[in-house]
Parts: sequence; structure tokens; C-alpha cells
Amino acid sequence: MRYSSYFIPTHKEAPSDAEVVSHQLMLRAGMIRKLTSGIYTYLPVGLRSIRKVENIIREEMNRAGAIEILMPAVQPAELWQESGRWEHYGRELLRFKDRHDRDACFGPTHEEVITDLVRKEIHSYKQMPINLYQIQTKFRDEIRPRFGLMRGREFIMKDAYSFDPDEEGANRSYEAMYEAYSRIFHRCGLRFRAVEADTGTIGGSYSHEFMVLAETGEDQIINCTGCNYAANLERAEVNPDYTQTESEAKGLRPMAEADTPGIKTVEDVTAFLSISPAHLIKTLILAVDDENVAVLVRGDHELNASKLKNLLGAQAVELASERVVEETTAAPMGFAGPMGLNVRIVADHAVKGMRNFVTGGNRKDLHLRNVNLNRDFNVDLFGDLRMITPYDCCPRCGKEIEFGKGIEVGHIFKLGTKYSQALKAVFLNHEGKEEPIIMGCYGIGVGRTVAAAIEQNHDKNGIIFPIPIAPFEVTVLPLQMHDTKVVETAERIYAGLLEYRVDTLLDDRDERAGVKFNDADLLGIPVRVTVGAKGIQSGQVEIKLRSETESFFVPVNNAASSIKEKVKALHDSI
Ligand code: ATP
Ligand code: MG
Repeated sequence: MRYSSYFIPTHKEAPSDAEVVSHQLMLRAGMIRKLTSGIYTYLPVGLRSIRKVENIIREEMNRAGAIEILMPAVQPAELWQESGRWEHYGRELLRFKDRHDRDACFGPTHEEVITDLVRKEIHSYKQMPINLYQIQTKFRDEIRPRFGLMRGREFIMKDAYSFDPDEEGANRSYEAMYEAYSRIFHRCGLRFRAVEADTGTIGGSYSHEFMVLAETGEDQIINCTGCNYAANLERAEVNPDYTQTESEAKGLRPMAEADTPGIKTVEDVTAFLSISPAHLIKTLILAVDDENVAVLVRGDHELNASKLKNLLGAQAVELASERVVEETTAAPMGFAGPMGLNVRIVADHAVKGMRNFVTGGNRKDLHLRNVNLNRDFNVDLFGDLRMITPYDCCPRCGKEIEFGKGIEVGHIFKLGTKYSQALKAVFLNHEGKEEPIIMGCYGIGVGRTVAAAIEQNHDKNGIIFPIPIAPFEVTVLPLQMHDTKVVETAERIYAGLLEYRVDTLLDDRDERAGVKFNDADLLGIPVRVTVGAKGIQSGQVEIKLRSETESFFVPVNNAASSIKEKVKALHDSI
């Protein structure tokens, strides 16, 4: 490609509303432009990277036996009503009416559409396993679209859906996708980790997220230093066997009242009573579906609402309203305790190990000291209800854990029969008996993968693309456009590289050397070839890798072939 006749509108500065570096660099490098909140145009250079990611995805999905299709973006409401998600999906689902007043939505995901297809086409165990995928534009009306392609409203996703007649088959399909995803992100040249994850609104029983490791990631992940356990923070289990409890050897002391005038928060109460937060129990009154429940966690721990939801098999967990808290505890907010409540009491395992602790007194301006479990109140149900902390150990092996940050680029779910039951996608088994099909679903954010690659690989001058997803592999910079020797040499090298099928950008603009160098760095092209008058005199051109500081020279005569070898070496190093 020739820079002069291409379309790469680069900028020195990023607009002030671009908060993260990938967003800033994608705007500055002329990869994307914003149309409106969360909706972007992919400019040529951005589209090239996107296409490269898509090609890697395609190759690996095909290799894993998945079959490409393309489903509609617009979906009828009836299917969503059948699955029950028309009610539950919330405002991320962009809904509208057509001219006949029929409800429709723009697909945020395609479980309904694919299950509808499969229920009409697949009727026997002999037609399975089958895995169908597409690479397509999704729309989710995200509450806070941000960070460019990282969290858009309209975005490109690869989504795949597997269909199996039995559990073993479904597990094999899941494993195949786990392997394919590992290969995809490896081939993109990214440092990543697969972590155990929660299943969220898509539902189902089991899932892994693929996280690109980056300091700027929004997702917190933990991994064990001893075994291969890794999970996202929300999902990370806390094993009571490996939990430090602060249990005191001393006996139980008599309960005592402590006046705490207007003092409500854990921070204020513990400071006022000079105790550590580990000696206090937080009593949270929560609305769990239609029931009010008191949930107890240690003062220094944080409730994990999805664990509570899973433990109680609930659809929704929310903090109870002020009025409900006051009715339940007979006290204003901030003084709740577990004694004398007539709602179910659920507690985190860590509460078991506590002695002589502080709780709210269920009366205005009152807390209680030396409260004890089983003597002063009872718990109906214990469970793992809290977020893991850096002081916890690996829930599997008990070794130390590390905290890190990541960007979720892919997500694989075992769905089970949630959608096949709702939409009656059934098949006849070996015995001719009807059963629901067992499903899995598997997503990759294509644009988010490019953005995550930039978050992971950049410096102050710009992007440092891993070569498999770089818009170009090589850029050739003739420094003096009025020197025919320079121009001819650059043209010859460019033609040679094209002959070798190396993806090359020839910067043939009549610009200063500094401008060309800056743009080459900004765009993150892995190999830069500088053709200058001085070098040519000594029969050499300069090669510099974007990822390294030192450059080296190669003879001008067989420059194209040396560069091609360098490109190959870069690919081989991934
Ligand atoms: P998140 O928790 O980040 O909102 P999700 O769990 O809702 O993601 P999935 O439904 O699993 O996402 O979608 C599959 C993949 O699509 C994600 O792993 C992510 O890479 C991508 N993705 C999801 N939402 C967006 C978005 N708003 N913008 C860009 N990519 C997205
Ligand atoms: Mg989401």
C-alpha cells in the first residue's frame, strides 16, 4: 500500500474524552472514528487489524470443526419471549417496532436465533455434534459505553454455539473451544490467561473467560502461585479450610451494650470502639427475589452478591430499601445486627471462626460487644459468600495467590439445556426417545481484542503491534523524496516485499523524516525499513523493529529477502 494514496488520518493529540491508552492510540493512529456514543467507524488501518484477528479466529474455529454461518442482526421479539429474556434482559437490549407494529430487537447475542434454527433442522442424535459460528455485528445498549472499541454499543463479535446429544459430548465441545480459544489468543501474539468465571445473564452452569493481561484491565483476576487455579475476582472461591480466622482462644465473654451515637459505618464503628474490622460483623438486609434476608459477613470482608445469588438459587439480589431495613431491624440504617430478627439469616463461613465480636444492636445509636454465634443468635445457612482477599490462599491447593488485571476478550459457557428446553429444541436419542439438546456458547470480542492488544503493547510513541495482527508487517520509509536513488531503491524494496507477499506500507509522502518516523511508531508496524541517501552510498538500508531500541543494517542488494526473513522470524517467535 502507498501511504500517499491511502487513508490514514493520524493525529498528534488524542481528544480529551479518550481515557485509556488504546482508545487514544486508535484515534491518533487513524484506526477508528467515533460516530456517536459507543458507535465507531473502522478506518482502513483499524479494519486491517480487525480482519487479521477475524482470519485467525476463522482458521482456528474451522480447524476445531465449527462451521461458519451468518445470522440476522434484527431479531423478532417472539423468540425472546419464548426464552423469557424479553422480560429479563433489561435495557441493554435495543428494542424497536417495525411498520406493522411488531416488536423486534437488535441482537446483543444469538442464543434464541440459533436455537430456533436448530430446532427446525436437527432432529436426531445422528446430526450431532455440531458447532455453528458467525462473525457479526452486535448491539448492546451499554449503560456506560467507554474506552473506544473496548466497550462499545455496536461491536463485532464472533459467537459460536455447540449442540450435543449428551453431557460427555457437550464437555468435548467445550474442551475443543477452550483449546481453539487458547490457540487464537496465542496466535494473536497476546499474553493471556483462561480464568474460571461466573455465568451472568446468559445463564448456564460453567464458564471460562479469556483475559488479556494488562495493568489497565478493568477485570481483576487471581491466580495461584502453586497450581493452575485462576479465576476472575467475582468468581474466585474462598475455601474455609484455607481461610485465616481470627478466632481467639479465650472463652466467651458476656455481651455488653456500646453507645455509638450516630456512628454507622464499619470504618466509624471500629475506630470509635477501637477494634479491628475483623472483630465486627456486618449485617446486610437484602431483597433476594421476593424474600428479605439478613446476610452476615466479617467487617473486613466484602459480600459477593453473585455467590449469594447462586447459594440461594435466586434471580436477583438487591440491597433492601431503607424502609424495609427499618421494619426488619426496628432501627435506622447503620445499626442492624443478627439478634431477634424474624428473617432468614445467611452467613459467610468466616463468621463461624469469630468470638466475642461486635454487631449492630437493632436500636438507634447502639452496637453490642462480645456477641457470639449460637449463644446469642443462630444462622440458618452458611456458605462462601464473600470476595476473596489478598490474605486468602488458593481455594484448591492452599498456596499463595496473586492478584492481577485483565481484559476479557473471550468467554466460553456450558449452557446445558436452558435454551433448548425453553424453545423446545429436542432430538430423538438412540432409543428413539425425545430429549433436549445440550448447548454451549462461545464469544470473542473482535474489536476488544485489538484494543486489548494495544493496552498490552504500547510505549510513549505509540502502538507496538504483535506482528500477526498488525495492520502492516513492514513499513518502508524513503527519507529524501527528491533523491531519485532513494526513491528508486525504496520502490524496488517495496516491489520485492510485495512479491514475497509481505504486507507492506510504503511511506511515499513528501514529508520530513521526523513525520514519517513518528507515524511509523504511532501505527506500531513491527518492522521499519529506512532508505536514506547516506545509507545507499554505503550500500545499506536500516532495519528497526518496533519492539526494540537498536537498529541494524542489511545490504541494499538483497534487502527484500533479508526483510522477509526477519518478518518470518517475528512470526515464528509468537
Ligand atoms: P462484559 O462483562 O465485558 O460486559 P460480557 O460478559 O457481557 O462482557 P459476553 O456476553 O460474554 O460479554 O460476550 C462475549 C465477548 O464479547 C466478550 O468476551 C467481549 O470480548 C465482547 N464484548 C461484550 N460486550 C462488549 C462491548 N460492549 N464492546 C465490545 N466487546 C464486547
Ligand atoms: Mg456485558
